[in-house]
Amino acid sequence: MLLKELTEVYEKVRAISSKLEKIALVAELLRKTPSEPLPIVCYMLRGKIFPDYSAQELRLGWSSIWDAIRAVTHVSEEDLRIAYNKFGDLGSAVELIFEQNPKISVSLVTEPLTVEECYNALVKIATLSGKDSLRRKKTILMGLLNTSSPDEAKFIVKTITGEMRYGFKQGLLEEAIAEAFSVDVAVLRKAYMVRSDIGEVARIAKEQPETLKELSIVLGRPLRPMLAETADTLEEGFKRFDKALFEYKYDGARLSIHKNNEAVNIFTRGAEEVSQSLPEIVEEIKTIPHSFIVDCEIIPFEHSPKAFQELIKRLRRKHRVDEFARKIPVKLYVFDLIYLDGTALIDTPLLKRRELLSTVIQHTEHIEIAKCILTKSSAEARIMFQEALDLGFEGLMIKNPQSLYTPGKRGSEWLKLKPEAETLDLVVIAVEYGHGKRANLLSDYTFAIRDREGNLAPIAKAFGGLKDAEIEEMTEYFKGIAREQHGRSFLVEPKVVAELKFDEIQRSSLYTVGYALRFPRIKRIRWDLSVDEIDSIETVEKIFGRQKRNA
Ligand code: AMP
Repeated sequence: MLLKELTEVYEKVRAISSKLEKIALVAELLRKTPSEPLPIVCYMLRGKIFPDYSAQELRLGWSSIWDAIRAVTHVSEEDLRIAYNKFGDLGSAVELIFEQNPKISVSLVTEPLTVEECYNALVKIATLSGKDSLRRKKTILMGLLNTSSPDEAKFIVKTITGEMRYGFKQGLLEEAIAEAFSVDVAVLRKAYMVRSDIGEVARIAKEQPETLKELSIVLGRPLRPMLAETADTLEEGFKRFDKALFEYKYDGARLSIHKNNEAVNIFTRGAEEVSQSLPEIVEEIKTIPHSFIVDCEIIPFEHSPKAFQELIKRLRRKHRVDEFARKIPVKLYVFDLIYLDGTALIDTPLLKRRELLSTVIQHTEHIEIAKCILTKSSAEARIMFQEALDLGFEGLMIKNPQSLYTPGKRGSEWLKLKPEAETLDLVVIAVEYGHGKRANLLSDYTFAIRDREGNLAPIAKAFGGLKDAEIEEMTEYFKGIAREQHGRSFLVEPKVVAELKFDEIQRSSLYTVGYALRFPRIKRIRWDLSVDEIDSIETVEKIFGRQKRNA
């Protein structure tokens, strides 16, 4: 299949606003795609070339992409910068440069690129490692661009920079697959939930649609975690469910553990395997005489919960693992059971899952079941909330005892309640040198939120909240992801997510989104979150609405 067929549809989809028309166009493309490249076409449409169960990423630094573009187009540094500044995205800049210099694109004289060739080259860029890999990655990218039309070059660059991720939304892709192969969208979504691989599910929908219903969880393949919405008050839980299950909310990192006989795999919420960094947990899990998947939170813990930052030093560590296991003890709180001895439990109500969980997990040195109560009484829940805070935990989770486990969904079956004012998870898009003793440190950050079109839009500037040592660390990190310099500030790749506190949200013409945060300060860097998981303008509007109600 030619890449051109894909990029043409992508361009058409971008140009129309009707959701139904978008879905119809993509469905038509999928229908005519042969089985073999169908998974690839699905990955490419949503701009993430690996399935969700893979933690692999297409990593190529900004400067390498920039250099490859310049080498292929022979455009000056200044001209590329002008084009980039015009759009704020490198993919569109490349398209413009290709269009302005028709001779650059040689696709008319060479064989046109196929989807498979392009995909294989991107996988190669993602997976090459070791000595000389950077040069080879650049060469592969140059090879791709050399045979691309303007549309294709844009598509390729956007896929590599991550700008594509917002091209065709996951939800729409699910609907398009369902329409293309005449399957029920609910069945398709369920299949995707258990498999975490939209490409595989699309192929099954095409080849054997009747088997979609039978797909189940694969032990050892990470699922996307179920997510929670924010609750303003304890009572919200009772408004929604007759009785609610209240659990302590632990402030650490979300992990899922898969145990298959002797094999133990521990994954982060981004599907990264971190078993090697947690030997004491692996040992204790190994002693449990079942095969299962549990959902948990790990926190640094020595007599009481310790700062989340400590955990960063442990997760993903490959060297001196035992030494750090002694230095930074952890505790794992297990709160859900998703699979047990051959049976998937995602359609089993939470209360029953909890009951089964207590037969599987016993309290050991580093592992405990998350504390929970089932109650109708807000007085009882309030006591538990205070107790959680007194013990140094973050707050409470309020869960519908009848709820099923829905991987990847954020819904009102799980609510999170924290004591303090609300916070927003935002991504840093620009950094600036500070003043006085921070004159050599990148200490002032500009944060972006996701706007209604799915683009990153600035909403706050903050420079308070981090400790000096952290600012030093961040300075080094930001230098590594800097895109371009303007005087004392840099635009950076949108990679660092932080949780921001603020006094209130105000309407403001300072930013195009129409809102600004009053007195924003950084609560902490959220290394566990990616730019895909930041808050959107809808959340800002919700908080703004609540503020008005409470005023
Ligand atoms: P937040 O990260 O603030 O959006 O809150 C949701 C996160 O809280 C989940 O993704 C988990 O990592 C974490 N968490 C802590 N304790 C629990 C619990 N008992 N149940 C579910 N999630 C929990």
